[in-house]
Amino acid sequence: MELIELKDICRTYHLGEVAVPVLRGISLNVASGELVALMGASGSGKSTLMNLLGCLDHPTSGEYWLEGQEISRLTAKERARLRNRTIGFVFQSFNLLPRTTALENVMMPLTYSKENLTEQQKKMRATELLRKVGLADRINHQQSQLSGGEQQRVAIARALVNHPRILLADEPTGNLDSHTSEEILQMFQHLNSVDGITIILVTHDPAVAQWAQRTIRIKDGLLEDSPEVSHMADVS
Ligand code: ADP
Ligand code: MG
Repeated sequence: MELIELKDICRTYHLGEVAVPVLRGISLNVASGELVALMGASGSGKSTLMNLLGCLDHPTSGEYWLEGQEISRLTAKERARLRNRTIGFVFQSFNLLPRTTALENVMMPLTYSKENLTEQQKKMRATELLRKVGLADRINHQQSQLSGGEQQRVAIARALVNHPRILLADEPTGNLDSHTSEEILQMFQHLNSVDGITIILVTHDPAVAQWAQRTIRIKDGLLEDSPEVSHMADVS
């Protein structure tokens, strides 16, 4: 069973009378344990695809199988639960809550967890993750008191707090200098190779894509140059 399987996914935005087809038939398999880079020009639909993968948005047509379940057949509540349990999402702009400490930001997704942890357990888990991303001494800093790289580390810890199998990162190093960017990428590689987390990483930077085992490219609403797509074409 593939961890992620997209079958002929289309996504069209509607702006008044105008239909904007952004994804025009995306088929993609991602196996457990992969580290995949998703590349494409600005406006090519990378974020649109990531939002679908993250169950933050619905395809116009096509099927999305996640852990053997077809997502569009689930209720909104079931989908939210699956997302919360399975997927961590990291954004380019970090998206931390202002006037909230690093610890509180990381604890936030536990509010919606089914695990029923005590406040103390939540604090311990969040603290442990902040230590893991190298921020043990920044736990009580607020967003405005953290550098860009530190904010992104908090965002990664927050994405990991529900122990997801999948980490989706949309241009996670887009707002970081090259040195900080490399530290974040090292962290992703560790999460992938040591902790076995499946990662899909959006970037337009070939140097970033080099960290991945596999690169897929999106152009004109379709995936191209993907060895897997050509392999699937051979089989069918
Ligand atoms: P990328 O992340 O590759 O830069 P996006 O997925 O953000 O691209 O956007 C792809 C295209 O879809 C762009 O042309 C963008 O203007 C359009 N688009 C994105 N979101 C919306 C939306 N909510 N409504 C209408 N058009 C959108
Ligand atoms: Mg984008």
